[in-house]
Amino acid sequence: MKYISIIGASGSIGTQTLEVLRKEKEIQLVGVSVHSNLERLRAIILEFHPEVVCITDEDRKEEAQDLMRSLHYSGEVCFGMEGLIHVSTLPKIDLVVTSLVGMVGLRPTVEAIKAGKDIALANKETLVAAGELVMALARKHQVQILPVDSEHSAIFQSLQGSQPHEVAKILLTASGGPFRGKDTAFLQGVTRAMALKHPNWVMGAKITIDSATLMNKGLEFIEARWLFDVPYENIDILVHPQSIVHSMVEFCDHSIIAQLGSPDMTLPIQYALNYPHRHPAVAKPLNLLAVGQLTFEAPDRQTFRGLDLAELAGKRGGLQCAVMNSANEEAVALFLKEKIGFLDIYDVVEEAMERFRDLGDITLEKVFAADEAVRAHIRRKYKEV
Ligand code: NDP
Ligand code: MG
Repeated sequence: MKYISIIGASGSIGTQTLEVLRKEKEIQLVGVSVHSNLERLRAIILEFHPEVVCITDEDRKEEAQDLMRSLHYSGEVCFGMEGLIHVSTLPKIDLVVTSLVGMVGLRPTVEAIKAGKDIALANKETLVAAGELVMALARKHQVQILPVDSEHSAIFQSLQGSQPHEVAKILLTASGGPFRGKDTAFLQGVTRAMALKHPNWVMGAKITIDSATLMNKGLEFIEARWLFDVPYENIDILVHPQSIVHSMVEFCDHSIIAQLGSPDMTLPIQYALNYPHRHPAVAKPLNLLAVGQLTFEAPDRQTFRGLDLAELAGKRGGLQCAVMNSANEEAVALFLKEKIGFLDIYDVVEEAMERFRDLGDITLEKVFAADEAVRAHIRRKYKEV
């Protein structure tokens, strides 16, 4: 039996992880966290009977306590960041699925690693903000960071059986998002509703906007650099609109190995949970004849500036990726509240990257400080405080 916690169990990845658990009888859910969605928490308790639940949104404390009473819940209930860390470090668990959104996932991930837990990592913002530190910590504590992001799972699967020195390149694929082929004039008029419609994937709001700006691919570029210890120069980005080839690895003999599958996150989730084994699928089979064509093209970097901004942050190193990530989280939140336009997202990120440029070497405490400073600056500027 494998024992796990899921942090961010009420979201898109969290829900799909629970779908996988319905089939995986050898994996037991011990702890969960939700932020504010008590309806989902209620359903999870009734179906999975976790021993510990955490509600991170402290404003929901009373409502949550009422819910627990009404359910006669006899497990442990905890709240806030302290609760999140508790759920992520329970002595009984072997692995934590990090399916919460945003760099708020960094602290619980770090604590889980220190407690010797393997990580099934969906929460890419954590690796973008502090990939260097997180991976070093994982090596020190000999825990595995198992990628859930579909591209990184594809790369991880393609790398099986190879040696690091045999890897020439990572070929990271991108769907191109809902506005592929559009120009800047078009993007100026993009609304919240338009950006929330992704052609191939149904996901949480933040990552859906990131996919539309191509910032998601920028985040994944940085995520890949740290997960697989490959220099940025050796990571290429290819637009592949069908989202069937989830990514590829080119080896030193110029052989390219790819992983293909339907666009269904249960596949990488199930792989991460069972690694190194494969179990009968939850995901639907892929019908290549129905897909017909697999095409590849270069990304339009002039129009979708998210890619270049993320690459610049990556190449500058230090705290720039953390700054870029926090600015992007704030910018996406402002766009979702309809306070800024679609293209303004790039400007908010770029301005923050210039303003918070020379912050010195990266340490965990400096990442948290940079995060606070960047958010405070942007919130002041847009009168969110
Ligand atoms: P969702 O928005 O669907 O879910 C987010 C989860 O995080 C929810 O459980 C939410 O709780 C919780 N949450 C929100 N804010 C906070 C907070 N401040 N503190 C603690 N928990 C919080 O996101 P997704 O499932 O789409 O994405 C989750 C992560 O996985 C992201 O990092 C994303 O980039 C990554 N990812 C997602 C993919 C997808 O297909 N969805 C694919 C690849 C990666 P509640 O709802 O209760 O408020
Ligand atoms: Mg992805």
